[in-house]
Amino acid sequence: MMLTGMHVAIIGGDARQLEVIRKLVELDAKLSLVGFDQLAHHFTGAVKLPIDEVDFPDLDAIILPVHGTTLDGKVNSVFAQEPIPFTEEIVKRTAQRCTIYSGISNSYLDELVRKTERKHVQLFARDDVAIYNSIPTAEGTVMMVIQHTDFTIHGSRVAVLGLGRVGMTVARTFAALGAKVKVGARRSEHLARITEMGLVPFHLNDLEKEVRDIDVCINTIPHLIVTASVIAKMPAHTLIIDLASKPGGTDFRYAEKRGVKAILAPGLPGIVAPKTAGQIIANVLAQLLYEDWQKREENKR
Ligand code: NAP
Repeated sequence: MMLTGMHVAIIGGDARQLEVIRKLVELDAKLSLVGFDQLAHHFTGAVKLPIDEVDFPDLDAIILPVHGTTLDGKVNSVFAQEPIPFTEEIVKRTAQRCTIYSGISNSYLDELVRKTERKHVQLFARDDVAIYNSIPTAEGTVMMVIQHTDFTIHGSRVAVLGLGRVGMTVARTFAALGAKVKVGARRSEHLARITEMGLVPFHLNDLEKEVRDIDVCINTIPHLIVTASVIAKMPAHTLIIDLASKPGGTDFRYAEKRGVKAILAPGLPGIVAPKTAGQIIANVLAQLLYEDWQKREENKR
């Protein structure tokens, strides 16, 4: 699998993007790097340049950071002093075939791709990426729990809420460390799977009752679930780690009022394992770019 001749612009990002650059250089793609001026490292086959010097009509793909753009149309880079503008005018200079990649999207980026009619791929919406990412997420959760408790994970009573891609990995990881793990879900097939995993299942309807005897509550449900009345039933020493995307699923105001420690912990993969998190993105991206490139080569024939 090679990407020889494919022209890709990588605009902004953090340490994770270095893994993407490394991988695409290895696959022999032609890279234009925008917003990497403060990066001392030089990659052969990759050129650092300002956004207005990119050969846009020649581009096959644009890779944005995990967060895509800001809501006012800029791309952040930890390797540049200033954010990079990413406007309709810029995207319109690319050929129709140019695909835009990011981890997640927002209203600005959605609107931009709609107006310019370019294909946009959100990598974090993919099941494979979410499952791979759940590994550093679970490790980051272990780190948070260690940092914020004075007891071992081993032997502690942990409630995990949600058996999605993150919930399953987190439940398994804490169980492997010797915690007594129960998992709350609402679908009967999830309750069956929790039982199969050797963990204790409970229905989310019984959440208030089930939190009476726990030490740690880990939420993965992006919906207000750890409500004031749930928090009121928890022992006062309970630690709540909320992994769900902002604003989380916890009534943080009430938790603070009651003196229950509750922490919203977003973006753990990029914090605890930027290299692995970058490799996860790089591997999937390489595969997607290759499929795209192959299709184009076939069409030429
Ligand atoms: P997922 O696979 O979609 O799982 C979400 C789970 O929440 C599902 O089991 C779903 O159950 C349940 N759920 C959703 N809405 C519910 C509701 N109203 N009531 C009860 N249950 C509900 O998602 P995921 O990949 O595990 O990700 C979970 C969250 O973690 C997301 O917000 C994601 O952005 C975030 N995340 C955070 C980090 C971090 O570093 N903190 C890392 C990765 C992901 P049903 O199947 O019954 O709907």
